[in-house]
Amino acid sequence: MTKSLAVKCLLPNGLHARPASRIEELCNAFSATMAWENARTGRTGNAKSALSLIGTDTLVNDDCMLIIEGDDELEAFETMERFFVEEFPHCDEALPTVSVSPDDNPIPRSLSNLEPDFARGSIVSEGIGVGKLVALGGLDFDAVPDFDLLDNATEQKRLDEAVSVLSKGMLAQQATATGPAADILSAHLSLIGDCEFQADLAEGIQKGLGAVGAIKATGLRYCEQMRASSSALIRERELDIRDLSFQILDHIYGEAVYGARIELSEDSVCFADDLTPSRFLELDRTHLKALLLGSGGTTSHTVILARSFGIPTLVAVPRDKVLVVAGETVIVDATLGLVIKQPSEPICRYYDLEFALRSTLDGQLVHYRSQPAVTEDGHKVEIAANIALPIEAKPAFAAGAEGIGLFRTEMLYMDRVSPPTEDELYNAYVEAIEAAKGRPIIVRTIDVGGDKPVDYLEIPEEHNPFLGYRAVRIYAEFIDLFRGQLRSILRASAHGPLKIMIPMISSFEEILWVKEVLGEVKRDLRDSGIVFNEKIPFGIMLEVPSIAYIIDQCAQEVDFFSIGSNDLTQYLLAVDRDNDKVSKHYNSLNPAFIRALDRIVQDAHANDCWIGLCGELGGKGSVLPLLVGLGLDEISMSAPGIAAAKARMAKLSLSECRDVVEKAKACRTAIEVDQMLAEFRMGVGDAPMVSQDCVVIGEDLRSKNEIVKRMTDQLMVAGRCRYPARLADDVWAREDVFSTALGFGFAIPHAKSEHIEQSSISVAKLPKPVIWGDDEVDIVIMLTLNKYTAGDLHLNIFSRLARKIMNEEFRASLKSAPSVEAVTTFLQKELELS
Ligand code: PEP
Ligand code: MG
Repeated sequence: MTKSLAVKCLLPNGLHARPASRIEELCNAFSATMAWENARTGRTGNAKSALSLIGTDTLVNDDCMLIIEGDDELEAFETMERFFVEEFPHCDEALPTVSVSPDDNPIPRSLSNLEPDFARGSIVSEGIGVGKLVALGGLDFDAVPDFDLLDNATEQKRLDEAVSVLSKGMLAQQATATGPAADILSAHLSLIGDCEFQADLAEGIQKGLGAVGAIKATGLRYCEQMRASSSALIRERELDIRDLSFQILDHIYGEAVYGARIELSEDSVCFADDLTPSRFLELDRTHLKALLLGSGGTTSHTVILARSFGIPTLVAVPRDKVLVVAGETVIVDATLGLVIKQPSEPICRYYDLEFALRSTLDGQLVHYRSQPAVTEDGHKVEIAANIALPIEAKPAFAAGAEGIGLFRTEMLYMDRVSPPTEDELYNAYVEAIEAAKGRPIIVRTIDVGGDKPVDYLEIPEEHNPFLGYRAVRIYAEFIDLFRGQLRSILRASAHGPLKIMIPMISSFEEILWVKEVLGEVKRDLRDSGIVFNEKIPFGIMLEVPSIAYIIDQCAQEVDFFSIGSNDLTQYLLAVDRDNDKVSKHYNSLNPAFIRALDRIVQDAHANDCWIGLCGELGGKGSVLPLLVGLGLDEISMSAPGIAAAKARMAKLSLSECRDVVEKAKACRTAIEVDQMLAEFRMGVGDAPMVSQDCVVIGEDLRSKNEIVKRMTDQLMVAGRCRYPARLADDVWAREDVFSTALGFGFAIPHAKSEHIEQSSISVAKLPKPVIWGDDEVDIVIMLTLNKYTAGDLHLNIFSRLARKIMNEEFRASLKSAPSVEAVTTFLQKELELS
């Protein structure tokens, strides 16, 4: 007798690994034979084998039959019938996703699986650096110099006064502090008022050590005590003692207490609460692998310098959380905003893979640094860099800049007590010209006032700074300042191709007025016999919408325009670019904005005028096809993105980019534009599913974690995926529910994901087996299929593979395939993919 159970597969994703293994598990409890027959595919499989079940290629709505034959067939029938009614339909509930706090960068699963101990910071300069943690700003008692001592009574008075001023300041701050800041303050307050601490200080003074010696001796004594504690919590308090002692020292002796400059002698990660640009420049950059700042500023000179030198940098790093490991090795991941403390060996290996990926990608881009930016059909667009200080010019050109599209000069005027002299400015421009070696530099005259205050100009604060007294609008009042800048630019123009650009022009009158002043300054220079470029190009920022309507008139007076997309977005959409409450409305992909851009570029060209773009939009990789399609003559961005932009451009054609612009203009929402750009990206380059650059053989990969990371990273190297960590997360989401080791030393991890642009089959052949769930595997075949375009392909290929793996000859051939070429050809043939 046999029993037959009719089953309709209602699982949206078909009979994939997770439900198949549940059936396998249940069926194996019986001695009867159990076969699965799929009426649509005509395939039969052993229901006691998940692999065999998957091989039946059962999709949603397929009619199937479970045939049971043997002594306990009745019992088996009843169990399976119950299963198919009660449990089977729910076998395929949504996969769990990694949940993250919206404020934090999600930590990739391949890293979070390794349970790193970390502190967070905000990323201001991307990259990864490893080194010994060095505290700058000298919380090092040994580095405090000896100061001249006064008599004991005077020394005690200085100390008392410092303690009293600091205590009052802390009490005042405590009234408003919250969270960790409040905790630190109360710890410091209780220390400063501590009678033992005070008595030790007084004793030090009585011994003739002076305030400096008393503080050093007392501080050191308590630090040693705390460090010796077996409680981690108490050990962490050492930092409070140092911090407080140095606050007292600083109050009495000023900056000098921080001692001589720090010499970095090995790979180092430096921490400072605040760091002046000059102290930053003193650091040996060959050893400086990353910078951590306690302060939260994202626009300080130091941050800008760190970014231009490519030093991975985090700000708003909690000092108490990181300085506990001063002197030890830390990893700064300034792509995720993490400072990883006491990294374990697997974490170090994770970062070795990360460094290897970066170096491979960097190698792919090297070529583009020295090449002009050109599309595959020969259309050229100059890719230039935005800089704010002349010292940034050299690294920008080294990164591939074809010019400087925006030299924001306001930094030269900020953070000082008086304006720079004409000679200082002249030297700054000449420094940039020397780095440019004949390439053009657009110098934008100062854009201060409003939200960018310069104390010595004494411009009163305003309610609405972005619509207020800023940029060209203040030049008449500060005419000497403006003339001085024009003189310095003109003088420097004798040394190389400088251009002048004026910010925030909103009317034709302003252009005429600026040109008049420029004419006068030129006349003065001529009268004094000073040489300059008489034909220096003169241009304006196109960032106030009114100018978009008078391009024809402006073009009579200016040589070029540069679109300031940051301000143009805020003014066109009436959204304050610095107001979090309205940030969701601040979107340069708003179709209205794209239509405006298209019209602006066309009008400029119709009037024979050169036009570039220098706002943040220029650096957004996904938007590049749109910017190329607009027909811009130049795109200026921050230097690190330049080589990648050129590489991307080489794969585009002008006609398809123009098509992208038309499609974007037809969209109704920014989301539609975003989606259209994503679809376009996926359509570029139709690669075969299996290709040699998706196969890795013989690499020293020691865990499932390393394999998933390495294989997804390789898809980025192959140009099939831009966010490998997110793709890996999708692979892990499936692995969480069901380990994909399918026996015979094979695992087939798989995911349908939006993060794979070209559906792919990747292979890793390992020199040694690796634990994968409950199994050991030495061949991993990973399927990553595009969520939007793959349809049923996922299950189809998965079941084809499962059937193949059951075949001994297939396994043997794949295992013995000696090279990536052999593996690729074999799989293409076997899976009928070629
Ligand atoms: C802009 O507005 O796009 C621009 C480049 O100028 P800034 O960001 O300096 O205002
Ligand atoms: Mg602007």
